[in-house]
Amino acid sequence: MRWAGHGVIVLLLTVVTQLGGLAWLIALMTRRRLVSFVLAYGVIWMAAYALAPVTGRVPLPCLQEPLRMQSPAYCVLMRNYVSPDLADAAHRAARQVAEAYPDTVTLALDGGFPFLDGFPLLPHLSHADGDKLDFAFYYTDPGGHYLRGKTRSPIGYWAFETPEAQICPNRRWTLRWDMRALQPLWPNRPIETARTRVLITALMTDPRITKLFVEPPLAQRLGVQGAKLRFQGCRAARHDDHIHVQL
Ligand SMILES: [Zn+2]
Repeated sequence: MRWAGHGVIVLLLTVVTQLGGLAWLIALMTRRRLVSFVLAYGVIWMAAYALAPVTGRVPLPCLQEPLRMQSPAYCVLMRNYVSPDLADAAHRAARQVAEAYPDTVTLALDGGFPFLDGFPLLPHLSHADGDKLDFAFYYTDPGGHYLRGKTRSPIGYWAFETPEAQICPNRRWTLRWDMRALQPLWPNRPIETARTRVLITALMTDPRITKLFVEPPLAQRLGVQGAKLRFQGCRAARHDDHIHVQL
């Protein structure tokens, strides 16, 4: 492969995982590149897991309860790192939901990368300092029974709850994606309002959390309100498919 091709791979891996590009560069120095890449990535992953807490970020759990990442992919890609305060706030909120509804698993989505304030976690505009974290909603089956540990879309994002609510003007260049083509693909899983309400309330009442983004029509439907509950504006991603919180 030409150097330009390797450059693109390094760039993509860096954008998606922060440190994966480094693993590819290491693999380029060897003969069996794919095997070397997997090994180098594994070593870098473990090093990040051990060293990130030293520089101020901790990984959210991948397999535990009552709080875990929505998919192990978030862990593999090293997108589950947040500041210790935010991790504590997330654990605390998940415990509160599990106290109210004992079988609940709370699912986290994108947090941040292991290192470096200011390094963007694309496509998010703000997840660059470990102080931001997204949560998935809770869902039910069509009969209204809570679906433990499940989301509508495979990655937790982009299954919008209020597609009918046109609260922003149509713009061509915007991060407010509607993902219309994807919507019919998601299974019929209504949002589980009781648990979602408890989670939002638990996060809002944590003094360390300063802001939550929930789309206004959805906040209204859930019956949650408060000074910390904000609308992110029309140029940023929609928040009727997940909850965004920040310190
Ligand atoms: Zn977010």
